[in-house]
Amino acid sequence: MLTLQKTAPSFGAVLADKPEPTAGEGEVLVEVDAVGICGSDIHMYEWTPGYEWLEGALPVTMGHEFAGRVAKVGPGVTGLAEGTPVVVTPGYFCGVCEECRSGKPDACRAKKSIGLTVDGAFARFVSVPARTCIPISPDLPPHIAALTEPLVVGDRAVQIGTIEAGQDVVVLGPGIIGLATAFIAKRSGVKSVTVVGKGDPLRLGIAKQLGADRVIDLDEGGSKLSDHIDERSVERVFEATGFGESITQGLGLLKDYGIMTSIGIHPAPASIDITPFVRRKLQLRGAHGGGRDCWDRVLAMLPDNQNVLGAIVSHQIPLSEAIEGFELNRRREACKVVIRPGMA
Ligand SMILES: [Zn+2]
Ligand SMILES: [Zn+2]
Repeated sequence: MLTLQKTAPSFGAVLADKPEPTAGEGEVLVEVDAVGICGSDIHMYEWTPGYEWLEGALPVTMGHEFAGRVAKVGPGVTGLAEGTPVVVTPGYFCGVCEECRSGKPDACRAKKSIGLTVDGAFARFVSVPARTCIPISPDLPPHIAALTEPLVVGDRAVQIGTIEAGQDVVVLGPGIIGLATAFIAKRSGVKSVTVVGKGDPLRLGIAKQLGADRVIDLDEGGSKLSDHIDERSVERVFEATGFGESITQGLGLLKDYGIMTSIGIHPAPASIDITPFVRRKLQLRGAHGGGRDCWDRVLAMLPDNQNVLGAIVSHQIPLSEAIEGFELNRRREACKVVIRPGMA
């Protein structure tokens, strides 16, 4: 079968044939209906600093934001019938190491990530542990179901950022994670959500469709964030840019006691002027991934919001055009590119 693989610790990825996997003990074979290209896939494709830890896992089939159907059930699997539509939680713990057995799975020594450290879903079939599958409604379109994982990351960020009704929220970065965070923050009843980007009219337009009260393109009318938003004027900032200066600028927007939550992956360290940070009693928090509670919340709200969320998906393309999908993202000509391996 055709797969998109990361084969070497350098720029790029390759389309190459690989034998179809089989469902081993405790596993199911999932036929992939839709799989999104994630920001982290693009980092992995470009091989930006911060991904060196994956070198030992290469070659690997990429792709972790996916929905599909159970095509085959391996030995020992109960409760998942063939044909069941599912989404898959891509990070999982081994369950047998000392940390897992002592109830600290977060510290698992053998944590695996589908599409990063083990073969993922840029393929017609992927074999995954049955416990990573969550059954979904057969009525949910696959390209919407494939948005579950990035929405989970946004849901977790909002949870960690502890937003409250009546607050003004700024989201820095209109990438998918920023958009997901803005959408979930707005649904949570805050007073206003502002999304900030730089030379990104396509994705800022989508932010508006998702309910952002205001969008700011820093390429228009002054390039400094403080030209558009008063310093010390908002309660919460979410940073999803990956640029160090966003940390400094975002902290500057916060009122005293404000909280900034960082979700961006940064190729370089950021610097913070600690004294005002301390005197103003600010907080900087990190959010990454999301727990099963986030998956359940997102899946519960997907059916009623599928039309508005559909705006995020700018392209649906066959697997054979996956490289072009990455390049569309790199040229900022796409929002979410979803690959449909069943599409000719
Ligand atoms: Zn992702
Ligand atoms: Zn473990």
